[in-house]
Amino acid sequence: MTTYAAPLRDMRFVLHEVLEAADTLTALPDFGDATADLMDAVLDECAKLCEGVLFPINRAGDEVGCTFKDGVVTTPPGFKEAYKQYAEGGWCGLTASPEFGGQGLPETLDYLVSEMVGSANMSMGLYPGLTQGTILAIAALGTPEQKKTYLPKLVSGAWQGAMNLTEAHAGSDLGLLRTKAVPNGDGSYSVTGTKIFISAGEHDMVENHVHLVLARLPDAPEGSRGISMFVVPKFLPKDDGSPGARNSVAAGSIEHKMGLKGSVTCVMNFDGAKGWLIGQPHKGLAGMFVMMNKERLFVGSQGISQAETAYQSAAAYARDRIQGRAADGPARPDKAADPIIVHPDIRNRLMFSRAIIEAERALAVWTHLMVDIAHKHTDAKTRQHADDMAGLMTPIVKAAGTDFGSEITNTCLQVFGGHGYIREHGMEQLVRDVRISQIYEGTNAIQALDLVGRKLGIEQGRLFKGWLSEVEATIKSLEGRNDMGEFIGPLKDAVARLKSVTLWMIEESAADPNARGAAAVDYLRLFALTAFAWIWVRMLDTAIAKKKNANGDGFYDTKIEVGRYFIKRVLPQTVGLDAVIRAGSKTMMTLPEAAF
Ligand SMILES: Cc1cc2nc3c(=O)[nH]c(=O)nc-3n(C[C@H](O)[C@H](O)[C@H](O)COP(=O)(O)OP(=O)(O)OC[C@H]3O[C@@H](n4cnc5c(N)ncnc54)[C@H](O)[C@@H]3O)c2cc1C
Repeated sequence: MTTYAAPLRDMRFVLHEVLEAADTLTALPDFGDATADLMDAVLDECAKLCEGVLFPINRAGDEVGCTFKDGVVTTPPGFKEAYKQYAEGGWCGLTASPEFGGQGLPETLDYLVSEMVGSANMSMGLYPGLTQGTILAIAALGTPEQKKTYLPKLVSGAWQGAMNLTEAHAGSDLGLLRTKAVPNGDGSYSVTGTKIFISAGEHDMVENHVHLVLARLPDAPEGSRGISMFVVPKFLPKDDGSPGARNSVAAGSIEHKMGLKGSVTCVMNFDGAKGWLIGQPHKGLAGMFVMMNKERLFVGSQGISQAETAYQSAAAYARDRIQGRAADGPARPDKAADPIIVHPDIRNRLMFSRAIIEAERALAVWTHLMVDIAHKHTDAKTRQHADDMAGLMTPIVKAAGTDFGSEITNTCLQVFGGHGYIREHGMEQLVRDVRISQIYEGTNAIQALDLVGRKLGIEQGRLFKGWLSEVEATIKSLEGRNDMGEFIGPLKDAVARLKSVTLWMIEESAADPNARGAAAVDYLRLFALTAFAWIWVRMLDTAIAKKKNANGDGFYDTKIEVGRYFIKRVLPQTVGLDAVIRAGSKTMMTLPEAAF
């Protein structure tokens, strides 16, 4: 079986020691209570729930999956009870406003909660993940009446949120969607159309479902500028807030998938279903981005979460499984063979996994801290900078988190040899479950295009320059320190490479319309590795400083060793990526279509 113990020590290192997040957060309006002690208490409680309740039912989620009969979706054994416990614990409304029953805690903390929940049970985690996005969208764009009707129920977890974007012919290109919304004349609309691949569209764990639906008004312009957002409940709320008459929205079927089987994926039929406009007409896509930005970061956490469980499981197996002898002499002469952890290839896989996971976690926490500052800071300039940083990093946390999530679950499966490929140890479930995270919430190619096409382009690179100023401040503060020299030099080289290849790409795209598209995925990886190097340097600086007064548990020595591995063995990938990007678009665009 897989192994999972919440990595609380590492989470606290990032939160308290590297980023000193409580100092920043408690200085923000509304977050005065978000002290280090309070955040630690929340993390401890979450760890108990994840290890004791959610993790034990993860396997049943995969083996039994969700079932569909006569329009009713039944979730796997144990899910209903676990969800009830989750909702009653207040976890669905962790970041929601206390005005609607939420706990009003920071997104920074929520990231760590989501990562733990995902590690324990990615399928289960997706249900509240979608509800949280729905809460955000209604809180940001809903009328006071809509907020009063929906938010308390979503925040308590009694009702489930879902996002209904995708149609059979409209996936990445939502401008093609056809679902219609016709005004009824009383302020409501009749929504008609079919949505596919809708996560949590229907199930047996809640008393009502709240669908956010993208649809076109009769006078809508073509394409993505003609999309509006509607709220369509499964049961129409009565005046007292309880679920009333059945609305004409129903699940037509559920998908049979490669993984994530405990999370239901529905075809949703809207047959003149009653709905209400959320936000401005024709501005639905922009509105949905309130939800999607949250969900993209959330999906990044899913990638990291599966990598963490895979790493922990592989490390435990590598210490236990005996095969072959260490090259430098037997490590366990009393045994017939040595544990496979003596072999450089096994260690390399484990070190790679850990070096990436720890950087990703730190970068994700930093990004969420930027989200909190962007939401709450009193100074407009500080808010803008933080919003820029969060916007720049969102496609990176999503795409790199999930691409590496897939790579790491695979490399950790390899540590098990054939025992990873068969079902018994649960490693193949992690590989299957994590795979969707590279696809939904905008495929990783779409994330890369968002980075190179949109984020870099804003005001002649304002976001990129803002981030460079953060990195340069780190370099300046540490340069010249002997104990940091082996790390700062490679970081400086990587940043210079990133700057140079960014300029090259911008120049190249002036002449070649395919230049950005050809570069995008490799460029995002190069950017991610450089950002990981930056955050690793910050972690190494902290670890070196704290090591002097350490309690002897080896935590900081390990941190330094893993960071050194990243700088020496992973960061050099940027040299190859730089060359790959500069090979340009002709390498892939010249071959005629018929030759494929
Ligand atoms: C399990 C599951 C759960 C899901 N949950 C939800 C949900 O809750 N709500 C919802 O609305 N949707 C959901 N989706 C849909 C998901 O978001 C889409 O599958 C995804 O956005 C991609 O759309 P598509 O599948 O139509 O692929 P397509 O858009 O057809 O893409 C096919 C390929 O072409 C590439 N491509 C497309 N356009 C471009 C471009 N311009 N440039 C470069 N490459 C491009 C893509 O990267 C991809 O590799 C879910 C899907 C699955 C499988």
